[in-house]
Amino acid sequence: MVILDGKTLSLKVLEGVRERVAKLERKPHLVVILVGDNPASRIYVNNKKKAAEKVGIKSTVIELGLEVTETELLAKIEELNQDEDVTGILVQLPLPEHIDKNKVVLAISPKKDVDGFTPENVGRLAIGLEPYFYPATPQGILMLLDEYNIPIEGKEAVVIGRSNIVGKPMAQMLLKRNATVTICHSFTPDIEDKIKTADIVVSAVGKKIVRCKMVKKNSCVVDVGIFRDSNGKLTGDVDFDFVSPSVGFISPVPGGVGPMTIASLMFNASKVYQ
Ligand code: NAP
Repeated sequence: MVILDGKTLSLKVLEGVRERVAKLERKPHLVVILVGDNPASRIYVNNKKKAAEKVGIKSTVIELGLEVTETELLAKIEELNQDEDVTGILVQLPLPEHIDKNKVVLAISPKKDVDGFTPENVGRLAIGLEPYFYPATPQGILMLLDEYNIPIEGKEAVVIGRSNIVGKPMAQMLLKRNATVTICHSFTPDIEDKIKTADIVVSAVGKKIVRCKMVKKNSCVVDVGIFRDSNGKLTGDVDFDFVSPSVGFISPVPGGVGPMTIASLMFNASKVYQ
Protein backbone atom coordinates (compact mmCIF):
# COMPACT_ATOMS: atom_id res chain seq x y z
CA MET A 1 0.00 0.00 0.00
CA VAL A 2 1.31 3.42 -0.98
CA ILE A 3 0.34 6.62 0.85
CA LEU A 4 -0.56 9.49 -1.47
CA ASP A 5 1.61 12.14 0.16
CA GLY A 6 -0.20 15.39 -0.54
CA LYS A 7 2.01 17.37 1.77
CA THR A 8 5.21 16.61 -0.16
CA LEU A 9 3.60 17.03 -3.58
CA SER A 10 2.00 20.33 -2.53
CA LEU A 11 5.46 21.76 -1.76
CA LYS A 12 6.66 20.67 -5.19
CA VAL A 13 3.63 22.25 -6.89
CA LEU A 14 4.06 25.47 -4.91
CA GLU A 15 7.74 25.62 -5.86
CA GLY A 16 6.75 25.24 -9.53
CA VAL A 17 4.21 28.05 -9.15
CA ARG A 18 6.81 30.27 -7.46
CA GLU A 19 9.27 29.74 -10.31
CA ARG A 20 6.60 30.44 -12.92
CA VAL A 21 5.38 33.60 -11.18
CA ALA A 22 8.96 34.89 -10.89
CA LYS A 23 9.24 34.80 -14.69
CA LEU A 24 5.89 36.47 -15.38
CA GLU A 25 5.90 39.96 -16.78
CA ARG A 26 2.43 40.75 -15.53
CA LYS A 27 2.27 39.76 -11.86
CA PRO A 28 -0.83 37.99 -10.60
CA HIS A 29 -2.91 39.74 -7.95
CA LEU A 30 -5.42 37.69 -5.98
CA VAL A 31 -8.19 39.50 -4.12
CA VAL A 32 -10.01 37.55 -1.42
CA ILE A 33 -13.28 38.94 -0.08
CA LEU A 34 -14.27 37.99 3.45
CA VAL A 35 -17.75 38.94 4.64
CA GLY A 36 -18.55 38.86 8.36
CA ASP A 37 -16.63 37.38 11.24
CA ASN A 38 -16.76 33.59 10.82
CA PRO A 39 -13.56 32.44 12.64
CA ALA A 40 -13.03 29.40 10.39
CA SER A 41 -13.38 31.56 7.27
CA ARG A 42 -10.85 34.01 8.66
CA ILE A 43 -8.34 31.17 9.15
CA TYR A 44 -8.91 29.91 5.57
CA VAL A 45 -8.48 33.42 4.18
CA ASN A 46 -5.28 33.99 6.13
CA ASN A 47 -3.90 30.65 4.93
CA LYS A 48 -4.62 31.60 1.33
CA LYS A 49 -2.97 34.98 1.79
CA LYS A 50 0.12 33.39 3.34
CA ALA A 51 0.37 30.78 0.58
CA ALA A 52 0.04 33.48 -2.09
CA GLU A 53 2.80 35.57 -0.54
CA LYS A 54 5.12 32.54 -0.37
CA VAL A 55 4.86 32.00 -4.13
CA GLY A 56 5.16 35.68 -5.01
CA ILE A 57 1.50 36.31 -5.81
CA LYS A 58 0.30 39.69 -4.62
CA SER A 59 -2.76 39.24 -2.44
CA THR A 60 -5.29 41.60 -0.93
CA VAL A 61 -7.94 40.68 1.60
CA ILE A 62 -11.05 42.85 1.56
CA GLU A 63 -12.94 42.49 4.81
CA LEU A 64 -16.57 43.53 4.72
CA GLY A 65 -18.73 43.75 7.84
CA LEU A 66 -21.88 41.70 8.33
CA GLU A 67 -23.91 44.81 7.54
CA VAL A 68 -22.73 44.91 3.91
CA THR A 69 -25.67 44.59 1.53
CA GLU A 70 -25.85 42.23 -1.42
CA THR A 71 -25.89 45.23 -3.77
CA GLU A 72 -22.72 46.64 -2.20
CA LEU A 73 -20.94 43.29 -2.44
CA LEU A 74 -21.95 42.87 -6.10
CA ALA A 75 -20.72 46.41 -6.82
CA LYS A 76 -17.37 45.61 -5.20
CA ILE A 77 -17.02 42.47 -7.34
CA GLU A 78 -17.82 44.47 -10.48
CA GLU A 79 -15.17 47.03 -9.51
CA LEU A 80 -12.63 44.18 -9.17
CA ASN A 81 -13.75 42.65 -12.49
CA GLN A 82 -12.93 45.97 -14.15
CA ASP A 83 -9.65 46.52 -12.30
CA GLU A 84 -6.84 45.50 -14.68
CA ASP A 85 -4.40 45.01 -11.82
CA VAL A 86 -6.61 42.28 -10.29
CA THR A 87 -6.18 38.85 -11.93
CA GLY A 88 -8.08 36.63 -9.47
CA ILE A 89 -11.16 37.08 -7.29
CA LEU A 90 -12.22 34.73 -4.56
CA VAL A 91 -15.24 35.23 -2.29
CA GLN A 92 -14.86 33.16 0.86
CA LEU A 93 -17.92 31.02 1.60
CA PRO A 94 -20.20 30.72 3.50
CA LEU A 95 -21.83 34.12 3.09
CA PRO A 96 -24.33 35.61 5.54
CA GLU A 97 -27.95 34.63 4.92
CA HIS A 98 -29.03 37.99 3.49
CA ILE A 99 -26.63 37.55 0.55
CA ASP A 100 -27.53 35.20 -2.31
CA LYS A 101 -24.45 33.05 -2.92
CA ASN A 102 -25.55 32.27 -6.48
CA LYS A 103 -25.77 35.96 -7.41
CA VAL A 104 -22.26 36.45 -6.07
CA VAL A 105 -20.87 33.51 -8.04
CA LEU A 106 -22.62 34.80 -11.19
CA ALA A 107 -21.07 38.25 -10.70
CA ILE A 108 -17.41 37.13 -10.84
CA SER A 109 -15.70 37.39 -14.23
CA PRO A 110 -14.97 33.80 -15.44
CA LYS A 111 -11.43 34.91 -16.33
CA LYS A 112 -10.81 35.92 -12.70
CA ASP A 113 -12.78 33.04 -11.13
CA VAL A 114 -9.84 31.22 -9.50
CA ASP A 115 -12.28 28.87 -7.71
CA GLY A 116 -13.75 27.72 -11.03
CA PHE A 117 -17.31 28.06 -9.67
CA THR A 118 -18.90 30.41 -12.23
CA PRO A 119 -21.42 28.96 -14.71
CA GLU A 120 -19.09 29.64 -17.64
CA ASN A 121 -16.24 27.65 -16.10
CA VAL A 122 -18.57 24.88 -14.88
CA GLY A 123 -20.27 24.80 -18.29
CA ARG A 124 -17.01 24.71 -20.21
CA LEU A 125 -15.95 21.68 -18.18
CA ALA A 126 -19.35 20.04 -18.75
CA ILE A 127 -19.23 20.38 -22.54
CA GLY A 128 -15.62 19.28 -22.79
CA LEU A 129 -14.02 22.69 -23.31
CA GLU A 130 -11.09 23.95 -21.29
CA PRO A 131 -12.37 26.12 -18.41
CA TYR A 132 -10.31 29.16 -17.45
CA PHE A 133 -9.94 27.57 -14.01
CA TYR A 134 -10.66 24.08 -12.67
CA PRO A 135 -12.00 23.90 -9.09
CA ALA A 136 -9.03 23.62 -6.74
CA THR A 137 -9.83 20.43 -4.80
CA PRO A 138 -10.53 18.06 -7.71
CA GLN A 139 -7.66 19.59 -9.69
CA GLY A 140 -5.35 18.93 -6.71
CA ILE A 141 -6.61 15.34 -6.51
CA LEU A 142 -5.80 14.75 -10.18
CA MET A 143 -2.31 16.19 -9.63
CA LEU A 144 -1.91 13.64 -6.82
CA LEU A 145 -3.13 10.72 -8.96
CA ASP A 146 -0.86 11.76 -11.82
CA GLU A 147 2.16 12.11 -9.54
CA TYR A 148 1.74 8.46 -8.54
CA ASN A 149 1.01 7.39 -12.14
CA ILE A 150 -2.41 6.04 -11.20
CA PRO A 151 -4.22 5.15 -14.41
CA ILE A 152 -7.58 6.87 -14.93
CA GLU A 153 -8.51 6.17 -18.54
CA GLY A 154 -10.83 3.16 -18.86
CA LYS A 155 -11.02 2.74 -15.07
CA GLU A 156 -14.11 2.53 -12.86
CA ALA A 157 -14.33 5.57 -10.55
CA VAL A 158 -16.80 6.13 -7.73
CA VAL A 159 -17.24 9.66 -6.39
CA ILE A 160 -19.14 9.89 -3.11
CA GLY A 161 -20.69 13.34 -2.63
CA ARG A 162 -22.15 15.68 -5.26
CA SER A 163 -21.33 19.18 -4.03
CA ASN A 164 -20.57 21.90 -6.56
CA ILE A 165 -17.10 22.40 -5.11
CA VAL A 166 -15.88 18.78 -4.96
CA GLY A 167 -18.13 15.90 -5.98
CA LYS A 168 -19.63 17.19 -9.24
CA PRO A 169 -16.46 18.73 -10.71
CA MET A 170 -14.46 15.67 -9.61
CA ALA A 171 -16.86 13.43 -11.51
CA GLN A 172 -16.67 15.68 -14.60
CA MET A 173 -12.88 15.78 -14.49
CA LEU A 174 -12.57 12.00 -14.16
CA LEU A 175 -15.02 11.64 -17.04
CA LYS A 176 -12.91 14.04 -19.10
CA ARG A 177 -9.97 11.70 -18.41
CA ASN A 178 -12.07 8.80 -19.79
CA ALA A 179 -12.93 7.05 -16.53
CA THR A 180 -16.36 5.44 -16.14
CA VAL A 181 -17.82 7.45 -13.29
CA THR A 182 -20.52 6.65 -10.74
CA ILE A 183 -21.67 9.45 -8.43
CA CYS A 184 -23.10 8.48 -5.03
CA HIS A 185 -25.01 10.75 -2.62
CA SER A 186 -27.25 10.52 0.40
CA PHE A 187 -30.02 8.79 -1.60
CA THR A 188 -27.75 6.11 -3.10
CA PRO A 189 -28.51 2.63 -1.76
CA ASP A 190 -25.76 0.02 -1.30
CA ILE A 191 -22.77 2.34 -1.69
CA GLU A 192 -20.56 -0.51 -0.48
CA ASP A 193 -21.42 -2.55 -3.57
CA LYS A 194 -20.30 0.30 -5.79
CA ILE A 195 -17.04 0.81 -3.90
CA LYS A 196 -16.31 -2.91 -4.23
CA THR A 197 -15.89 -2.69 -8.00
CA ALA A 198 -14.18 0.71 -8.21
CA ASP A 199 -10.57 1.22 -9.26
CA ILE A 200 -10.67 4.77 -7.90
CA VAL A 201 -12.82 5.95 -4.97
CA VAL A 202 -13.04 9.64 -4.09
CA SER A 203 -15.02 10.31 -0.93
CA ALA A 204 -16.18 13.88 -0.25
CA VAL A 205 -18.91 13.63 2.36
CA GLY A 206 -17.75 14.80 5.80
CA LYS A 207 -18.81 11.58 7.59
CA LYS A 208 -17.06 8.29 8.26
CA ILE A 209 -18.52 6.53 5.26
CA VAL A 210 -15.85 4.30 3.71
CA ARG A 211 -15.63 1.68 6.41
CA CYS A 212 -16.01 -1.49 4.43
CA LYS A 213 -13.19 -3.93 3.87
CA MET A 214 -14.74 -4.42 0.46
CA VAL A 215 -12.62 -1.98 -1.45
CA LYS A 216 -11.24 -3.55 -4.60
CA LYS A 217 -7.78 -5.04 -4.19
CA ASN A 218 -5.08 -2.57 -5.31
CA SER A 219 -7.62 0.20 -5.84
CA CYS A 220 -6.93 3.86 -5.08
CA VAL A 221 -8.88 5.59 -2.30
CA VAL A 222 -8.84 9.39 -2.02
CA ASP A 223 -10.23 10.88 1.18
CA VAL A 224 -11.46 14.46 0.78
CA GLY A 225 -13.50 14.60 3.98
CA ILE A 226 -12.15 16.51 6.93
CA PHE A 227 -13.96 16.88 10.22
CA ARG A 228 -13.48 16.32 13.94
CA ASP A 229 -14.47 12.98 15.50
CA SER A 230 -16.20 12.69 18.89
CA ASN A 231 -12.78 13.06 20.59
CA GLY A 232 -12.06 16.28 18.71
CA LYS A 233 -9.45 14.61 16.49
CA LEU A 234 -9.19 15.66 12.85
CA THR A 235 -10.32 12.78 10.66
CA GLY A 236 -11.57 11.89 7.17
CA ASP A 237 -14.35 9.88 5.50
CA VAL A 238 -12.27 6.72 5.26
CA ASP A 239 -11.64 4.31 8.11
CA PHE A 240 -7.94 4.33 7.32
CA ASP A 241 -6.82 1.42 9.52
CA PHE A 242 -9.55 -0.86 8.23
CA VAL A 243 -9.36 0.05 4.54
CA SER A 244 -5.65 0.73 3.93
CA PRO A 245 -4.34 -2.89 4.06
CA SER A 246 -6.53 -3.84 1.08
CA VAL A 247 -5.82 -0.95 -1.27
CA GLY A 248 -2.96 -0.02 -3.59
CA PHE A 249 -2.99 3.71 -2.84
CA ILE A 250 -4.67 5.80 -0.16
CA SER A 251 -4.58 9.47 0.82
CA PRO A 252 -4.25 10.26 4.53
CA VAL A 253 -6.13 12.89 6.56
CA PRO A 254 -4.47 15.20 7.33
CA GLY A 255 -1.64 15.43 4.78
CA GLY A 256 -3.45 14.27 1.66
CA VAL A 257 -6.03 16.31 -0.22
CA GLY A 258 -5.94 19.34 2.13
CA PRO A 259 -2.46 20.63 1.21
CA MET A 260 -3.10 19.79 -2.46
CA THR A 261 -6.18 22.04 -2.46
CA ILE A 262 -4.20 25.08 -1.40
CA ALA A 263 -1.36 24.30 -3.85
CA SER A 264 -3.89 23.84 -6.64
CA LEU A 265 -5.55 27.14 -5.73
CA MET A 266 -2.20 28.90 -5.95
CA PHE A 267 -1.62 27.23 -9.32
CA ASN A 268 -4.92 28.82 -10.41
CA ALA A 269 -4.11 32.18 -8.84
CA SER A 270 -0.85 32.32 -10.81
CA LYS A 271 -2.74 32.27 -14.11
CA VAL A 272 -3.20 35.65 -15.71
CA TYR A 273 -5.87 36.25 -18.36
CA GLN A 274 -6.31 39.55 -20.16
P1 NAP B 1 -21.21 19.08 1.18
O1 NAP B 1 -21.52 20.21 0.29
O2 NAP B 1 -21.78 19.01 2.56
O3 NAP B 1 -21.61 17.74 0.40
C1 NAP B 1 -21.59 16.50 1.03
C2 NAP B 1 -22.08 15.46 0.07
O4 NAP B 1 -22.09 14.20 0.75
C3 NAP B 1 -23.52 15.69 -0.44
O5 NAP B 1 -23.56 15.51 -1.82
C4 NAP B 1 -24.34 14.63 0.29
O6 NAP B 1 -25.40 14.10 -0.46
C5 NAP B 1 -23.30 13.54 0.49
N1 NAP B 1 -23.68 12.67 1.61
C6 NAP B 1 -24.04 13.04 2.85
N2 NAP B 1 -24.32 11.94 3.60
C7 NAP B 1 -24.11 10.88 2.79
C8 NAP B 1 -24.25 9.49 2.95
N3 NAP B 1 -24.62 8.95 4.12
N4 NAP B 1 -23.98 8.69 1.90
C9 NAP B 1 -23.57 9.22 0.72
N5 NAP B 1 -23.43 10.52 0.50
C10 NAP B 1 -23.70 11.35 1.52
O7 NAP B 1 -19.67 18.89 1.39
P2 NAP B 1 -18.37 19.31 0.53
O8 NAP B 1 -18.23 20.78 0.58
O9 NAP B 1 -18.35 18.60 -0.77
O10 NAP B 1 -17.26 18.67 1.46
C11 NAP B 1 -17.23 17.29 1.79
C12 NAP B 1 -16.15 17.03 2.81
O11 NAP B 1 -14.91 17.36 2.22
C13 NAP B 1 -16.23 17.86 4.09
O12 NAP B 1 -15.72 17.11 5.15
C14 NAP B 1 -15.32 19.04 3.80
O13 NAP B 1 -14.79 19.61 4.99
C15 NAP B 1 -14.25 18.35 3.01
N6 NAP B 1 -13.50 19.21 2.10
C16 NAP B 1 -12.16 19.11 2.17
C17 NAP B 1 -11.40 19.85 1.30
C18 NAP B 1 -9.92 19.71 1.38
O14 NAP B 1 -9.23 20.50 0.78
N7 NAP B 1 -9.43 18.71 2.08
C19 NAP B 1 -11.99 20.70 0.35
C20 NAP B 1 -13.37 20.76 0.29
C21 NAP B 1 -14.13 19.99 1.18
P3 NAP B 1 -26.72 14.96 -0.87
O15 NAP B 1 -26.28 15.82 -2.00
O16 NAP B 1 -27.70 13.93 -1.25
O17 NAP B 1 -27.09 15.75 0.37
